Amino acid sequence: MSPALICPCGRRIEDASEFKLLYLKKELNEIDILCPNDNCYLREVGYIKFEIVDGKPRFKEASFYPPFVTWNASQMGRDAAIAELKNTLKKLVERIDWTMIKPVEAKT
Ligand SMILES: [Zn+2]
Repeated sequence: MSPALICPCGRRIEDASEFKLLYLKKELNEIDILCPNDNCYLREVGYIKFEIVDGKPRFKEASFYPPFVTWNASQMGRDAAIAELKNTLKKLVERIDWTMIKPVEAKT
């Protein structure tokens, strides 16, 4: 069993599916990863970036923000935290609903 991630707000996240994905920054080719706690003071704990290739979105990179990474490293140890964060990002990328991302029409 993998260790649970903990947000600095105190919320334990047992599974990647608990995070919320926000598709508001489509123009920036970015999806926000939000803490499942609606009252979280961080709210945004990471991001997923994609690029548009041949009119289709394609995964580029994903990362958690430093406060979230540092907090988890202090809770479970750096190596365990890095491994679990990576694993979680992988699961989050698999959960992306690419149909939510329609490429912006090129302006002519
Ligand atoms: Zn939180």
